[in-house]
Amino acid sequence: MTNWPDVATRHDPWDVIVLGAGPAGSIAARQLALNSYHVLLIEKSRIPRFKVCGGCLSGAALDVLAEVGLGDLPKKCGGVTFQKMRLASCGATAEIDIGERIAVSREALDAALVEEATNAGATVCTETTGSVQSSDDAGSRSVLLRRHGVAVAVRAKAVVIATGLVSCSPEIQTKISPNSWVGLGAVTGPVFNDSAPGVLHMAWGAAGYVGIANVEDSRLDIAAAVNPRALAAATSPGELISQILADSGLPVFVKLGDAIWRGTPLLTRHSLPLASRRCLLIGDAAGYVEPFTGEGIEWAMRSAILASTFLKSGLDQWNQPSLDHWHMLHERAFGGRQRQCRRVVTLMRNKTVRRVALWSLQTAPRLARPFVQRLDHLN
Ligand SMILES: Cc1cc2nc3c(=O)[nH]c(=O)nc-3n(C[C@H](O)[C@H](O)[C@H](O)COP(=O)(O)OP(=O)(O)OC[C@H]3O[C@@H](n4cnc5c(N)ncnc54)[C@H](O)[C@@H]3O)c2cc1C
Repeated sequence: MTNWPDVATRHDPWDVIVLGAGPAGSIAARQLALNSYHVLLIEKSRIPRFKVCGGCLSGAALDVLAEVGLGDLPKKCGGVTFQKMRLASCGATAEIDIGERIAVSREALDAALVEEATNAGATVCTETTGSVQSSDDAGSRSVLLRRHGVAVAVRAKAVVIATGLVSCSPEIQTKISPNSWVGLGAVTGPVFNDSAPGVLHMAWGAAGYVGIANVEDSRLDIAAAVNPRALAAATSPGELISQILADSGLPVFVKLGDAIWRGTPLLTRHSLPLASRRCLLIGDAAGYVEPFTGEGIEWAMRSAILASTFLKSGLDQWNQPSLDHWHMLHERAFGGRQRQCRRVVTLMRNKTVRRVALWSLQTAPRLARPFVQRLDHLN
């Protein structure tokens, strides 16, 4: 970007500044730009970038993309369709039907979403970090942007915070669950000797769980949620992942030595308030459970659509009732589902529950269907 920082000061104020170009931020920026708002989308990384994530788009996530006219995007990115999940724990395995899903690496998906936001008219600045400033005037909110050592203050009538698990506003408090696990991820070459492309493998051991899916270019995306104490005790992330796979009994030909592992902060959290002084939180920035039920990308995109609809009703209505209204909308859309996922994850940490679940699924795999459907389409 040769015209930095002029590009960021093109409008004063911008209608909306969106911080973070994951699925939440890019979809929010795109939807607002399509409605002729002046939108600045800020992303701290260079795009494409790796993100610890299984990259599995649930049926509901595919529905969201279709709703905004991007239904064919995952396939265009080379995403791999799968319908089955092979679940392994305590030496037992069960294969269940989970409906059509698509796995795609986050490098490819997020880069494609940023491109869609650009095509819609949003101005995008990558390799730029944004932080919301405490000072503001009545009609706008100030954001400090830093890029390659050059800082510039810009203003917007609304700021959408979509920075994932990274905080960027002084007035948002994030509460992290004391039992939270951390994420680990890598994208590597094939490691399964029976690597069926249409099957998502999920292995659960004492120290955490690991999901493995084929993504574009015949690569495998490995994503895990692990107990941070077990990670600290292991000699390397790869050793811990191998141990979880071995514990679970998943038949694997493990060749994880070359994988480059990246981690996340503690996962389970919620932020408050969800809206304050011309700022709205969406996606993981608003709160996050663990990834076991595979819904984070859908929630991120759904909350982006909700935010763009909310902002379209007026960029200048920032009184307490409207902040409360955003909180209520968010809670109604996601609160119940997140609590349900939290219960599932808590239950699955118990070895006896996992044994019973595996036995039940082996005996009657159809038992999983209503549960999967409920998680996928409960609103
Ligand atoms: C191990 C693991 C596996 C998962 N597997 C799945 C799965 O299979 N399916 C699924 O649906 N979900 C999965 N998830 C969840 C999913 O990854 C997240 O819910 C989703 O990425 C949230 O999107 P987001 O846009 O809110 O945040 P993110 O995707 O985290 O994007 C936030 C962006 O903000 C940028 N950023 C941060 N701070 C700043 C700043 N100050 N200024 C500018 N930019 C900033 C970051 O660089 C990043 O690009 C998984 C998560 C984990 C940890």
